[in-house]
Amino acid sequence: MALSPSAQRPVRAKPGTSPTTHSGAGATLSQSPCVVIVGGGFAGIEVAKALQGSPARVTVIDRNNYTLFQPLLYQVATAALSPADVAVPIRGLLHGPNIEVLLDEVVGVDLGRSCVRTIAGREISFSSLVIATGSQYNYFGYDEWARLAPAPKTLEDAVAIRRRLLLAFEEAEMCGDDEERRALMTFVVIGAGPTGVEMAGAIAELAKTTLARDFHRIDPTSARILLIEAGSKVLGEFPEKLGTYAHRALTRLGVQVLLNTKIELIDENGVVAGGQRIATQAVIWGAGVKATPVAAWLGIQPGPRDTVRVNPDFSIAAHPNIFVIGDAAAVSGIDGKPLPGLAAVAKQEGGYVGNLIRHRIEGTGTTTVFRYRDYGTMATIGRSAAVADLRGFKFTGTVAWLLWGFVHIYFLIGFHNRLVVFVNWCWAWLTYARSSRLITGDEGSRSAPRLPPVAPSVVESSKSISSRETLRANAKRN
Ligand SMILES: Cc1cc2nc3c(=O)[nH]c(=O)nc-3n(C[C@H](O)[C@H](O)[C@H](O)COP(=O)(O)OP(=O)(O)OC[C@H]3O[C@@H](n4cnc5c(N)ncnc54)[C@H](O)[C@@H]3O)c2cc1C
Repeated sequence: MALSPSAQRPVRAKPGTSPTTHSGAGATLSQSPCVVIVGGGFAGIEVAKALQGSPARVTVIDRNNYTLFQPLLYQVATAALSPADVAVPIRGLLHGPNIEVLLDEVVGVDLGRSCVRTIAGREISFSSLVIATGSQYNYFGYDEWARLAPAPKTLEDAVAIRRRLLLAFEEAEMCGDDEERRALMTFVVIGAGPTGVEMAGAIAELAKTTLARDFHRIDPTSARILLIEAGSKVLGEFPEKLGTYAHRALTRLGVQVLLNTKIELIDENGVVAGGQRIATQAVIWGAGVKATPVAAWLGIQPGPRDTVRVNPDFSIAAHPNIFVIGDAAAVSGIDGKPLPGLAAVAKQEGGYVGNLIRHRIEGTGTTTVFRYRDYGTMATIGRSAAVADLRGFKFTGTVAWLLWGFVHIYFLIGFHNRLVVFVNWCWAWLTYARSSRLITGDEGSRSAPRLPPVAPSVVESSKSISSRETLRANAKRN
């Protein structure tokens, strides 16, 4: 997915004000080293926390005013959680007097002048720079597919997907044409990695349990959910046994899994996969990520998936004061294998680099070599169905699902969010309800659903819904 335009409009630098001023740091810190952290996600927040209370002036720049817990974004997209349940304001997390938070989007790095440039026209100087801008979805050269097949990467994406899914059922309810209704009730998820598996399972549960009794003219349980994967396995990066379990669990939920099937085309009417056209109005992309354009900012040759190859201490060649961490960096573990793009990796890298910079500033010696502590990987498929590979111990079913729930609640940021998500999940488990089934968002957004024409016969026979415009207007008002 191409980088979306800044989700929140950064505050423009006022003419006449110094763009490099660290107003929040105070006069006593004016001679201190300044550390600029770009990105307040999993990695960037850990760097800032390690530098809280240090002699450094720290500026955290993010294009959003919140940090996002991406592992639960698919639950926002499938109406199980609200956006606020999975995001926390960055200012609420970082309180140190030496820390300043800027809502702005970085667009480049001037290595010669040691400053970053932002979309709002600021130039912010650094003595140390940490870039932790994460990744974006990879459409493998077909960037025009991003509009047709959104991926759950930002809160805006998740809300747009939710809107598209829920509107499909609303449109199907009003549709008088069998073929069109069938297309509206077909959902295609691309990529059978953790994101695709979680999305497909959650859409199946939404259709087959939550919405089962909500409509009069359609039967939501007859919705077709297809999970399409170019490779030969579901959860290909997990041990074989767990992939096989996930495949079976998805099939039990009613998801049709198509393996060894390449997507050849995505257009307004659906997809062409493995030579077959599938008519649908809802395509969701979950087929791989690449790094944000950090290599281009630094003027260096990108590594695999556009990442930046870094030294073992995460600095870049010839610039010991510039670090790249998290999803944007390519680094190998002690076994020589590249570290995966996971939240745990990003958090540990952030803590390591934060401490390294602090030790350098305070002159308290060097930090030890970075070693990633791998506690395992997990993915959920649906109610009481998940897989977990914890240091070689493999779990499936209810045990894995409970472990998955515990770990995600534990790592969620903020007590309020933990409590809300826990209560939501308990309620959903008891009632099958999904509390956030709101159709919101902007019709004109890049992820706006493609509303098909409404069959006149149905419109005429419906007193309650007079036109497609009414539906749109209602959706906008919500
Ligand atoms: C749908 C989904 C599900 C996932 N599930 C899991 C899971 O279950 N377990 C797991 O371990 N990992 C999971 N991941 C991966 C995990 O979220 C990432 O590995 C992790 O977020 C990487 O952390 P990061 O700090 O490098 O980047 P991020 O957490 O993405 O943070 C990057 C930050 O940089 C900001 N930013 C980006 N560009 C700019 C710019 N130009 N200027 C200013 N700010 C900028 C962004 O707003 C963001 O706040 C999932 C990812 C996705 C998308």
